[in-house]
Amino acid sequence: MANSKYEYVKAFEQPDLLLPNTWIVVRIDGRGFHKFSNKYSFEKPNDRRALDLMNAAAKAVMTELPDIVIAYGISDEYSFVFHKSCALFERRSSKLVTTIVSTFTAYYVHLWASFFPETPLSAPLPSFDGRAVQYPSVQNLRDYMSWRQVDCHINNLYNTTFWALIQIGGLDAKSAEKELAGSLAADKNEILFSKFKINYNNEPEIYKKGSVVFRDIAQSKTQEENDRKRRAKARITVQHVDIIKDEFWERRPWLLSNKPGKIPKEP
Ligand code: ATP
Ligand code: ATP
Ligand code: MG
Ligand code: MG
Repeated sequence: MANSKYEYVKAFEQPDLLLPNTWIVVRIDGRGFHKFSNKYSFEKPNDRRALDLMNAAAKAVMTELPDIVIAYGISDEYSFVFHKSCALFERRSSKLVTTIVSTFTAYYVHLWASFFPETPLSAPLPSFDGRAVQYPSVQNLRDYMSWRQVDCHINNLYNTTFWALIQIGGLDAKSAEKELAGSLAADKNEILFSKFKINYNNEPEIYKKGSVVFRDIAQSKTQEENDRKRRAKARITVQHVDIIKDEFWERRPWLLSNKPGKIPKEP
């Protein structure tokens, strides 16, 4: 029964449901961060403070949303993975995305001063866009994560070489770009080593591998507490490790499983 003649407008609100039993990835990305990074004089190619701030904001998001099992960040982007059994916000895409984006942005701004004490924020303030993608299998999800980490590697090798040519080699951006056009990974490694004595393998892991945020659960924990509670209490850690190989996932079976200690089975 209608409460008023205006109530019909509710029918215009269309569903934006995500399928049950799928892994939902919400990926956010800084809006116009190329310009933003210049405004605040981020060190090129990698400003450690900016990455630490991204990681701190991601940790805060995970603390507030225990249904997120793992997050992965590079550059100005972060991917948050919701467990396939998560029923948060009735699995509505807009609600999940807007919650992540607003929570992340709020913490990014709130925590800014602890990472950039000498450069206060001024308008236009940082903002992020976001989207939700669902993956039906653990394999698809792992391939998604691998895709982002490979991207991190490709971009970082390129950027490290590009900026070495400029900062140490004295080239301008155009010449550096020309020098790298069509180059393979091996060529970039060779340029770094022969011209600048830089061994790419010795670059910091955070730049080469990105940042993985997850709950470090002691596997001996009692089974009484429900999963959600246990996940909420577990310590959240940020690591810069390989998530492409099986080892990371096999050593932490609780990440993708309903029952900590068990590897998720797939038909
Ligand atoms: P869009 O709004 O389309 O995302 P964008 O300018 O943010 O545009 P991206 O492709 O997202 O473009 O690239 C982000 C840019 O932000 C990088 O190219 C880099 O210049 C800068 N950036 C982000 N994080 C860092 C960092 N930690 N150190 C140095 N530069 C960074
Ligand atoms: P993302 O936001 O996706 O992590 P990024 O910020 O790490 O990206 P880009 O902004 O894409 O990196 O790269 C920095 C600069 O290097 C850009 O000017 C871009 O045009 C150039 N660049 C990156 N990768 C390549 C490539 N494979 N070939 C040519 N130019 C490249
Ligand atoms: Mg961006
Ligand atoms: Mg980006």
